[in-house]
Amino acid sequence: MNKTKMIATIGPSSRSKETIKQMILSGVDVIRINMSHSSFEDARDIILKVRELNRELSVITGIMIDTRGPEIRITELEKNKIKLFAGNTIRIVKNNIKGNENMISLTLPEVINYIKVGERILLNDGNVTLEVVSNSSDAIICEIKNDGYIKSNCSVNIPKANFNLKFLSEYDRETIKFAVLMQVDYLALSHVKDQLDVLDVNDLLIELSDDHIQIISKMENKTAIEEMKGILKVSDGVMIARGDLGIETGVENLPLYQQMMISKCRAKGKRVIMATQMMSSMKHSIRPTNAEVTDVANAVLSGCDAIMTSDETTMGEYPVETIQNMKQICENVESYYRYDNKYAYVAENKTEIIASSVVNAANELGSKVIVAATMSGHSARAISNLRPNAPILATVPTRKVARTLALSYGVYPVVVNEYNSTDEVINDGVAQAKKFVELNSGDQIVIAGGFPNTGKKTTNFMKIEEI
Ligand code: PGA
Ligand code: MN
Repeated sequence: MNKTKMIATIGPSSRSKETIKQMILSGVDVIRINMSHSSFEDARDIILKVRELNRELSVITGIMIDTRGPEIRITELEKNKIKLFAGNTIRIVKNNIKGNENMISLTLPEVINYIKVGERILLNDGNVTLEVVSNSSDAIICEIKNDGYIKSNCSVNIPKANFNLKFLSEYDRETIKFAVLMQVDYLALSHVKDQLDVLDVNDLLIELSDDHIQIISKMENKTAIEEMKGILKVSDGVMIARGDLGIETGVENLPLYQQMMISKCRAKGKRVIMATQMMSSMKHSIRPTNAEVTDVANAVLSGCDAIMTSDETTMGEYPVETIQNMKQICENVESYYRYDNKYAYVAENKTEIIASSVVNAANELGSKVIVAATMSGHSARAISNLRPNAPILATVPTRKVARTLALSYGVYPVVVNEYNSTDEVINDGVAQAKKFVELNSGDQIVIAGGFPNTGKKTTNFMKIEEI
């Protein structure tokens, strides 16, 4: 059983119910639907399939909707694919045109007013770099810095410019309304720049009376890195979105940025997801490369809660095998690696103080399982953040709460009836633990819980229970 959670993005090569089923059976915890590429109709269809599978397989798979965000693309080209040559110039015009070798237009034409001479523009996932040589109010002229292809509707990254664009487009607002209506568990926010962007989303969620969706801010530009402290304050977790982040800041910066982001999340008790190009070669190969295996392993070793697939599972030939490989790598690392807690938070409240005692006790005793009785999921997350050696069995009141734990390292939720006494918390905790792992007489497990239940964050005891 993998403790590091796995998120699989669904696309054309994985959208059949059977493939989703095989991926869930191979260890996927959360299904991601990327609204940059998916229609509402397709998204709805995938969500319903996952819900059916949750019932049929008695599993608790979470659903993540990923917004398009304020992204910029090239509009339609005359031919689907066009080669550009280094040294030539190309004009980016404000009018919407069918583009060619000499002239293109963008989906957000007004951005050309914010781009200065000397700044770089990256097209088609960074495959072609342009440098702005002159600008006017209706067009900019750029020098092409390298040979390469562009395609209709391909991506445009403009790392330096500050556009002053509204964070939430009409399409994103519709996406968020849809996510709330469909009661999905996680909302991933693309191209967040700072805390205010996330607060815009929060305002909309309050308007929609939603109080359960978890916000995952995607870190994919330089400003977000600089503003991470504020972003973390108002997010449940972050995604290290290496695709756009690498294009915008330079791939050579990724290794250090990754480590920095992981340690900041651990220090604040927030979820952290490693994303993009983890198993790229498996799009067309049944075996991952050694570098990819090491990348997945390093994500586990450096303390990520979750790892994610993108085009490996949306467009690849081997979506299920990709997941099976990742699961094997995670399990292998997890089975021997022992985390030290140098990055983890300093306990500040009752729940965190108990969590810290629970983890110490379970590690000292060599417990096979920790049981966390939790109404909101909060105490299970606090324990998870300290990366105990034992798995954490979270007894929770609803499937909704269970799904909010789908991205927490080492947490396995089980839905139970409400408890009416401390004794019940402990007795049922032991009973659930026995169903979860093989326990022999003399084994000592650690149980944490709260009673009486006053609503939120009531963790107030731990018990070492000898079987
Ligand atoms: P995307 O985000 O797959 O939605 O582009 C992830 C990334 O940029 O790495
Ligand atoms: Mn991205």
